[in-house]
Amino acid sequence: MAEIKSIYLPRFTIGEDAFDLFQSEMEKYGKNIVVIHGEKAWNASGKYVLPAIEKAGLNLLDTVLYGHEATYENLDKITANENVQKADMILGVGGGKCLDTVKLAADKLGKPVFTVPSIASNCAPVTKISIMYHADGSFCDIPVLKQAPIHCFINPRIIMAAPDRFLIAGIGDAMAKHVESSWSAKAGEKLDYGSEFGITAGRMCFYPFLNDAEPAVEDFKKGIVSEALENSLLNVIVSPGIVSVSVHPYYNGGIAHSLFYGLTSRSHIEKNHLHGEVVSYGTLVSLMADQDYDKLKPTWELNKAIGLPTCLADLELEKEDPLEDVLKLTLANQELVHTPYPVDAKLLREAILKLEDYRG
Ligand SMILES: [Zn+2]
Repeated sequence: MAEIKSIYLPRFTIGEDAFDLFQSEMEKYGKNIVVIHGEKAWNASGKYVLPAIEKAGLNLLDTVLYGHEATYENLDKITANENVQKADMILGVGGGKCLDTVKLAADKLGKPVFTVPSIASNCAPVTKISIMYHADGSFCDIPVLKQAPIHCFINPRIIMAAPDRFLIAGIGDAMAKHVESSWSAKAGEKLDYGSEFGITAGRMCFYPFLNDAEPAVEDFKKGIVSEALENSLLNVIVSPGIVSVSVHPYYNGGIAHSLFYGLTSRSHIEKNHLHGEVVSYGTLVSLMADQDYDKLKPTWELNKAIGLPTCLADLELEKEDPLEDVLKLTLANQELVHTPYPVDAKLLREAILKLEDYRG
């Protein structure tokens, strides 16, 4: 008998009136709702979320600050909260770490969860996993949830209250999703339905940005909700989520993310640079190592144009640095368990050096 498989595709609404759908999407789950949010996120979004909950005829039991980090300590505080326990459903409002904590709390309590992203930096609002950290900020684990969020409501106005740097980093992270997933399957092995579907959909994480990313960033800075901006928000939040929930773990990562984890061994990396920024440099290394010049050229040019890193100096590293510790950690990363051909330190070091002299 064939193995039973499920794919939980993202459901979402985008637009300045997105919250008008609270009623139709939520009322079937009950009346009592609790909001769990990030601190900055709530400052930017409370004025939109609260009236929308009232208009939807829902009964708001409480608004709860999730904490400041995706930890099990914060998770325990949320699941112990009486109002959270009483609620029929939970609405998470925040960035990736907040939403990952809220998703896991809802999973533990067996309650439906809805999401409102406050930044466009990752696909946490729609995925079926939570990336958890220790209280000191170091990585802990990635529990797989029973359900994906029921619905994600994206109001561009809320996301535009955050610095443009988050959107730019999100674009870098999303583009890696296509480069890594297609590269990981490059050997041509037979793919199951989910992997084939997810890798095909992953093209949306890359090609639209070649036209949309620059105008989207410009419009973001000017406060204009344009089609290029809305498409880019969807290709940061939803498209990588489609890949994430569909493909075999083999195809969910590659050189770009492994190099990110390797680079975090240098303490200044996570202190001074956003995840997507560092990953986008790893994307360039991946494309150079793969000699995929057709993708390398537009990606390098886009990185330059929107302020993503293109060389070691952009990450405060020197060309002469042998990066032995970084590459050792990179190669040990679980994301490099499945590769289309052997990847070793020499291949990566040479790609990094070639990238130093690359000019598009
Ligand atoms: Zn990432």
